[in-house]
Amino acid sequence: MNYNKNFDSIENEYIFSKIRKQASSFNNPDLHLIDLGVGDVKLPLFKQTITAMKGACDEMQKEQTFKGYPPANGYQFLRDKIAQSYQNLGAKIEPDEIFITDGAKGQLGNIAELFNYGINVLFQSPCYPAGAESNVLRDNNVDFLVTHEQDGFIPYPPIGKRYDLIYLCSPCNPTGAVMNRTDLTIWVQYALKSGAVIVFDGAYSEFISGDYPKSIYEINGATDCAIEIQSFSKSLGFTGIRCGYTVIPKRLGELNALFFHWLGRRFNGVSYVSQRGAETFFDKDVKSQLEKRIKFYKTNTEVLKIALKNLNLWYNSSVCSPYVFAKTPNGENSNVFCRKLIENLGIVSTPGSGFLHGGEGYFRLSAFCHREDALQASDRLKNLAQYY
Ligand code: PLP
Repeated sequence: MNYNKNFDSIENEYIFSKIRKQASSFNNPDLHLIDLGVGDVKLPLFKQTITAMKGACDEMQKEQTFKGYPPANGYQFLRDKIAQSYQNLGAKIEPDEIFITDGAKGQLGNIAELFNYGINVLFQSPCYPAGAESNVLRDNNVDFLVTHEQDGFIPYPPIGKRYDLIYLCSPCNPTGAVMNRTDLTIWVQYALKSGAVIVFDGAYSEFISGDYPKSIYEINGATDCAIEIQSFSKSLGFTGIRCGYTVIPKRLGELNALFFHWLGRRFNGVSYVSQRGAETFFDKDVKSQLEKRIKFYKTNTEVLKIALKNLNLWYNSSVCSPYVFAKTPNGENSNVFCRKLIENLGIVSTPGSGFLHGGEGYFRLSAFCHREDALQASDRLKNLAQYY
């Protein structure tokens, strides 16, 4: 069959499906399984978000307010609020530069469809793999910009080859590395000079504390060279509801209009109910609850880090991430280590190799869990030493 042979060059099973499968085959009646694997949120939606979505459902029940297909680029009410939030950061982003999407993942690949086949792509690694794999499937030339522990996993522009698309993620999943203003300014200048377009994945921007940019558009010149991809998944807990947005400034030329065309042809929009729920992100009360929730998840990372410290394992020092990224004992293969962690301690984690180049020899623990699970996991980790 004449199928896309590029599928042969990516992992034949998606990393997080594999982890789910491993977890579901775990069968030890004496050990309750602690899921620190897939970075899925565990706490429920905020009351205001539910109320807004129920209100949207009520509108659907009346003929006068019923809504059919949503606008492919999203409802104006949500795009206005998002544009305002950028303007509050000092970034000049207009509502017609914002596209409401069903989360971030699809867009990491969809953006590549605005370009010709065979373009040169640079991908920060280790990182969430969706963008890289979609580009490989499109037959693009993907180079990995491997970041290292000694540089705090911060990516720096390469010398030589010219790239059409550059994928950056800050705070980075899994490393937690967060780029400061200087780091991002270097990238924006590099992109402007070389004619590259940056795809900036800010899915974890709400986890930033301290003086780090939450958006690439806080950097001068970024509206001339960068696309930003955002999500309500890890902030509002919308991994199941699905809503996010992509920003393509008109200063990027055709790309804004092309994405509008793309959405019109390939996507029928995000449901009204989801968008009304997402709108509550901008509600003051929701913001303050969100801050508390993020603090809660970050405290889980601290609980897990203490356990790793006691084991003398290296771990990331980031305080801007819901993930703990750590080194396996004695440089053990990350798949082997994660399997041991499930089988012996009943803890699901993610092998660093699932985050592509530079991830081997590391593992990730997700702090999107209940406090009790973080505490129990850290208690169980005390027993890890006996397996080495
Ligand atoms: N980008 C990064 C860095 C992620 O870690 C994830 C999900 O874990 C996504 C994008 C996808 O998020 P969404 O649920 O919005 O599709």
